Amino acid sequence: MHLNKRVLVTGGAGFLGSHLCTRLADNGCEVLCVDNHFTGARRNVAPLLGRANFEFLRHDVTFPLYVEVDEIYNLACPASPIHYQHDPVQTTKTSVIGAINMLGLAKRLKAKIMQASTSEVYGDPKVHPQTEDYWGNVNPIGLRACYDEGKRCAETLFFDYYRQHGLRIKVARIFNTYGPRMHVNDGRVVSNFIIQALRGEPLTVYGEGSQTRSFCYVDDLVEGFIRLMDSGDDFIGPCNLGNPGEYSILELAEAIIEQTGSSSKIVHKPLPENDPRRRKPDISLAQEKLGWAPTTPLKEGLAKTIAYFDDVLREIGG
Ligand code: NAD
Ligand code: UDP
Repeated sequence: MHLNKRVLVTGGAGFLGSHLCTRLADNGCEVLCVDNHFTGARRNVAPLLGRANFEFLRHDVTFPLYVEVDEIYNLACPASPIHYQHDPVQTTKTSVIGAINMLGLAKRLKAKIMQASTSEVYGDPKVHPQTEDYWGNVNPIGLRACYDEGKRCAETLFFDYYRQHGLRIKVARIFNTYGPRMHVNDGRVVSNFIIQALRGEPLTVYGEGSQTRSFCYVDDLVEGFIRLMDSGDDFIGPCNLGNPGEYSILELAEAIIEQTGSSSKIVHKPLPENDPRRRKPDISLAQEKLGWAPTTPLKEGLAKTIAYFDDVLREIGG
């Protein structure tokens, strides 16, 4: 007889996963963190390892998993373009076979399962801001396709398991999220710019920097995850989770230079293939169904993230 909810977090040693595991453990859940350490780091979950309600299992979700839990958050998948393009076939396998394995597990256990989907399902969007009913504009054969199409197929699988097997599903479409515990070599824009600024190196703006993104602080996102998982079974999503504040990449670079007090300059590098030009979530659905909206302003979130990378760089000697 289990008094506390048993929760599986796949990709739990990664950036978002480790924050989610911490929050769930603090809430008194029994947390099982599963990760193959592809981009996750032991240090992310190190503070949890001694806790009685936390367990780590090294496992690749492309292989079946036999455990007993009540809820599953399926986060396993590299999220940074550099990492997911490093082994694109494995990226698609992780999203598609990983989803099949975790949905199969949820089916056997009658567990509730949430998919960490992405704004990338909208591709280079022709609808702005992006609403959940927009079907997207994705190049199926481009360099980003292993991630975008893998995540789209995972959504298809979630909805087919819902229709065919009556599974209790939740699909979150996450927009760019940042914060402490992003990998130093993550390659995503916020961590890249902060590390470059702290090292006094030039900030690498791809293209002219006029492309836009909306940046959500990690604590706000984790709150959204938990509210979505705890919402009634009739609300399955897909549900956008992100911060609607929209900034050009050049504006972000300037803000980080100012906040770090760095003397770094900006350099321009070629724009990667199929880089989306605009991105901003419409979060009306999350507001209505979950009573959720982000509360951390960019300046405040950046300050916490800068402080984190300052410590990490000191630890690793710059
Ligand atoms: P991350 O790379 O830090 O974390 C992903 C984790 O999954 C890592 O710990 C990695 O080792 C693990 N993993 C990868 N392949 C695996 C496999 N086959 N088996 C087991 N574990 C595996 O990235 P993140 O930013 O924490 O993203 C977490 C999830 O959220 C991902 O599914 C990502 O697609 C999604 N997401 C994140 C963002 C964002 O801005 N952070 C935006 C949209 C979607
Ligand atoms: N970007 C940049 N410099 C960097 C890293 C990223 O200009 O050092 C740009 C990238 O081209 C994209 C945006 O920042 O337009 C966000 O990139 P990221 O990899 O963080 O996530 P994406 O939203 O593209 O998946």
